[in-house]
Amino acid sequence: MGQVVLICEKDEIEEMKNYYRKQVTDKNPPGSIFTAKTTGCSITAYRSGKVLFQGANCESEAEKWRVSDGKKQKPAGAGTTAKAKNTAKNTLPAGFNKLSVIGSDEVGTGDYFGPITVVAAYVKSENIPLLKELGVKDSKELNDEKIIAIAKVIKDVIPFSLMTLKNEKYNVVQQQAGMTQGKMKALLHNQAILNVLRKISPDKPDAVLIDQFVQPSTYFQHLKGQKEIAREDVYFSTKAEGIHLAVAAASILARYAFIQYIDKLSGSAGFPIPKGAGAHVDEAAAKLILQKGRQSLGQFVKLHFANTDKALALVQKKRRYHRK
Ligand code: MG
Repeated sequence: MGQVVLICEKDEIEEMKNYYRKQVTDKNPPGSIFTAKTTGCSITAYRSGKVLFQGANCESEAEKWRVSDGKKQKPAGAGTTAKAKNTAKNTLPAGFNKLSVIGSDEVGTGDYFGPITVVAAYVKSENIPLLKELGVKDSKELNDEKIIAIAKVIKDVIPFSLMTLKNEKYNVVQQQAGMTQGKMKALLHNQAILNVLRKISPDKPDAVLIDQFVQPSTYFQHLKGQKEIAREDVYFSTKAEGIHLAVAAASILARYAFIQYIDKLSGSAGFPIPKGAGAHVDEAAAKLILQKGRQSLGQFVKLHFANTDKALALVQKKRRYHRK
């Protein structure tokens, strides 16, 4: 089993703790600040600043937090230590929530089934009261029904760009190019933001706010070599949905697109496709394999998730059972 160790600053560990807040486990080894479990990776952060990533996906998980200072960092193998540099905090301008902002957020990265959807949306300061009235707020406080209802209205009110990384393409770039989710997301966010900037030109936003998924320096590192990179007045913040309605609106539109895509997948599967990455998705994937064959799975799921092996094991079990 692979492992990667990063040495992190205190505030970086706080950021991780927030980032993994939904996957925190109740295990508390001596000297630890928190432990969390994602798909294929266990994370343990220690008061010493050491953060341990263990499991099949440890490299890609640690990648989210690694800072490479412009140099390509050699892949850290078992027990190696990579210094995760603390990047300058970019403090948001005063009165940020009232500015005209392009917000950007993504959905689907933790879901086994379905694509990654990224939306950048432009909310002008004069539209903020209207969006509030339409019920735009943190999408975590809204159920699917409400999200669909709000999205249907705001999609005609605010300029936005939706980028959908379909499963077929996701699996190709993940397997053949070895691309991490962090890099995929950076490319999608950048493209969506550029699209909106073009759409609204010659108008310009006061700022761009990205719901932070990696250190800003890593974000721009991922974008190296891109023809065009949106950098001007770009800010990052975790929980950005609560900071500006543009991110909340982007999140709602991204979730709406994700829900629609899952509906489409359910249509081609012939049964409801579940969200998330728990045991219920293993069952659904096993059912798909039994009905449509192993090779069809790549059109529905993110193949590198540990769920694939679990689904294949379930298929084996079911086949053995039927042979008896
Ligand atoms: Mg987000």
